[in-house]
Amino acid sequence: RHKEKWAATAPRIPATRLALHHFDTNYSLQLRERWPAMRASLLCEQKYGALVNNFACADHVAQELELHNATDFVSEAAKKAQSLLQGSAAEAEKGESTSQDGPGGGRTVTQAGTSPLPPAPVSSNIKCYTFPRGDITRFRPAWPDTLGLLSYYLMDAASLLPVLALNVQPDDFVLDLCAAPGGKTLALLQTGACGHLAANDVSTSRTKRLYQILNSYVPKNVRETVRVTSYDGRDWAELEGGTFHKVLVDVPCTTDRHSVMETDNNIFHRRRTKERQMLPMLQLQLLMAGILATKPGGDVVYSTCSLSPLQNEYVIERAIEIAETQFNIMTHAEDLSHFRMLFQDTFSFSSDCRLGELVLPHLTANFGPMYFCKLRRA
Ligand code: SAM
Repeated sequence: RHKEKWAATAPRIPATRLALHHFDTNYSLQLRERWPAMRASLLCEQKYGALVNNFACADHVAQELELHNATDFVSEAAKKAQSLLQGSAAEAEKGESTSQDGPGGGRTVTQAGTSPLPPAPVSSNIKCYTFPRGDITRFRPAWPDTLGLLSYYLMDAASLLPVLALNVQPDDFVLDLCAAPGGKTLALLQTGACGHLAANDVSTSRTKRLYQILNSYVPKNVRETVRVTSYDGRDWAELEGGTFHKVLVDVPCTTDRHSVMETDNNIFHRRRTKERQMLPMLQLQLLMAGILATKPGGDVVYSTCSLSPLQNEYVIERAIEIAETQFNIMTHAEDLSHFRMLFQDTFSFSSDCRLGELVLPHLTANFGPMYFCKLRRA
């Protein structure tokens, strides 16, 4: 009886502590000696990127950011990809001339011909500025242009990688299945390529934040082309299957960084235990809906901001299997290892992912975690 009374009045353990304990237990096994440094990074101030708003009069924005030593990591990667492509083309040419010139040349050609060319470079109108590694300067708040549109949107720069991986091409029909509060929707719009953009999120309160972002960053004529809905994404295929060229499935997850830092809306709160345990199932269902919403030949990018393989690769593996066995749909995970090469100056990547890529928080590059994997529907 005494014990019961004590239990009823005992102070509750904050959700952030529960999250940290959960991660200490699981990630120390998974990440071993790398976990303590990553743990420290999660507990330190995260770094931001400034996604430049192409819809605002932003001529002087780039200048101002560069003056403060920030660089556009997307265009840096595009330049790198370009020079790698040129290098590979030169190698191939050299190989061909060797093949004509002498014995053994044929082998040289084959080698040059099959040497891994970097896939299509990051071609995008997206511009996102970050401060160099180890530089923890903060961006000043964005300011409005003469029409009231804000100059840039501050976000975890790693959140752009799933959008870049989607590689939206002119006139693509694009679905952002879990869109709110809208950072990635805004990035998708910055490509200027979406033929049609559907932004969906089951939460009406979070959808309001999506509208706020659209109002603050996107001119009315463009805003009106975005179809915002609040459906349960799991039902999407019943409404509109096989229609989109590109689908982004940025699922709810344990949001590792948020969970160790913020008490509000924390998935490790005791009353949300069941919801947390059901996350991989919800993620799988959302990814399946994303696959079914994609046209044959189209792409789905799945992303989380968690380090957990149960929410990352396992979900991908299960979805590939279910798509084949239950829907007779073949999908395969695209190789995104060129992202590691192109973006290594800005982000720290895991080298342990069998499928997809994972940005690891690091004290000198404190972005992420961000997992992303691209599936192509046959
Ligand atoms: N993509 C957003 C961005 O970049 O700002 C962040 C998305 S957040 C990681 C996951 C979102 O999934 C939440 O806004 C949540 O409301 C939404 N969500 C959860 N369950 C869903 C469901 N069944 N259908 C659609 N959206 C869902």
